[in-house]
Amino acid sequence: MALHKGTGSDRRLSVSPFVGITDPLGAMELAPPVHRLGEGAVAADTAYQLIHDELMLDGSAKLNLATFVTTSMEVQAIRLMTECLDKNMIDKDEYPQTAELERRCVAILADLWHAPDPDTAVGCSTTGSSEACMLAGMALKRRWMRRNPERYAAGARPNLVMGVNVQVCWDKFCNFWEIEARTAPMEGERFHLGAEQAAALCDENTIGVVGVLGSTFDGSYEPIAEICAALDELQERTGLDVPVHVDGASGGMVAPFLDPDLVWDFRLPRVQSINTSGHKYGLVYPGVGWALWRDREALPEELVFRVNYLGGEMPTFALNFSRPGAQVAAQYYVFLRLGRAGFRAVQGACREVATYLAGEIGKLDCFRLLTRGDQLPVFAFTTTEDVTFDVFDVSRRLRERGWQVPAYTFPANREDLSVIRVVCRNAFSRDLADLLLADLHRLLPELRRQPVPLKELGVPASAGFHH
Ligand SMILES: *Cc1c(COP(=O)(O)O)cnc(C)c1O
Repeated sequence: MALHKGTGSDRRLSVSPFVGITDPLGAMELAPPVHRLGEGAVAADTAYQLIHDELMLDGSAKLNLATFVTTSMEVQAIRLMTECLDKNMIDKDEYPQTAELERRCVAILADLWHAPDPDTAVGCSTTGSSEACMLAGMALKRRWMRRNPERYAAGARPNLVMGVNVQVCWDKFCNFWEIEARTAPMEGERFHLGAEQAAALCDENTIGVVGVLGSTFDGSYEPIAEICAALDELQERTGLDVPVHVDGASGGMVAPFLDPDLVWDFRLPRVQSINTSGHKYGLVYPGVGWALWRDREALPEELVFRVNYLGGEMPTFALNFSRPGAQVAAQYYVFLRLGRAGFRAVQGACREVATYLAGEIGKLDCFRLLTRGDQLPVFAFTTTEDVTFDVFDVSRRLRERGWQVPAYTFPANREDLSVIRVVCRNAFSRDLADLLLADLHRLLPELRRQPVPLKELGVPASAGFHH
């Protein structure tokens, strides 16, 4: 899908000798084409410098308040990852210690999420939450098929119940695995799935309900315990026993440390599986995720492949075969390094910055907060009705100073609502938050002088949205 730029060979390769590059192939040779393989080789230093320079156009990770994904790690973790770059996660026989680190991470998460027996919990690493959600969704579908052999044979279409605010991976899951996506729309000031809506959408073809901890739209936690209680009540009334999967992509690594009394995990018997992104609040560079099931019954055995590979027989449940091992080693590093106290400190600092920043923005009369950063360290705000600029204008102007703060429109039934979302991550300090506030204060007088939102003049919104 890349734009087809020139493939000609008329660009001169002009790397200055002052940047310390010696090019054994001769200076000022023809630059290789960018959309085709070049005929010849390029010196390693030259190739490095060309790509390094080009990538300087990417935004600065620390000013990126759009992404949930880790943008800083300690040098020791980076050294460890570098040492593991050549390890393939699937070669469990060749790299048994990497496989052991994966098992330890699963046990740590199972304990953190209160699995009935953490040492025998079933789970695996993945490339991210998306893959983990696919696996969890497949397990739900297979269990439904097993419970309903006649209905399945008669062509009944299975459905999955969730809020319209779910991350796009659940739309993908439903599309790829031919499941009807039953989504509860937003309503008024309810921006995520409610217990009542969840139960009302379930029927005999429901493979499960997905609860999100927390929502990518505004950082709010969905009421998992209430959803489970509503489903208990549904079961008493109708006999339908609908399992719950918790998408804890972010919150799975926040709530255990900052909200220990919030009951959202395997303490609820209805919760059958949980996923998280190791590369979000799990504090590892992309891509690693985790999928866990409460016990062996929750994961149909027939989905687990036993690969006889390079001399060993290994159970695997994954969409990929080969996959980098470095991220798993790095996840174990983060667990070992931080412990509970370290995680409390890191996630606590994120929440402190988020609530502080939200509070300060809430004091400005031109903005209205939807969330306050006190669940996920994430908050969303919109403009008040009496101003002549919109969130897209604010996002655009902040971008001029290097801040990447996305603005986007909400889904059904709140398409009328556009918000800015700020994700506070590890290393986004109070100092940086104050710089952002100062920039916001500086640009507001100019924005107030705008006669109308630029959108009304046909200026397209430039901000992208990660969700
Ligand atoms: C980010 C996210 C995902 C997708 O996770 P990846 O690790 O990026 O694949 C799924 N669900 C939620 C709630 C998320 O925040």
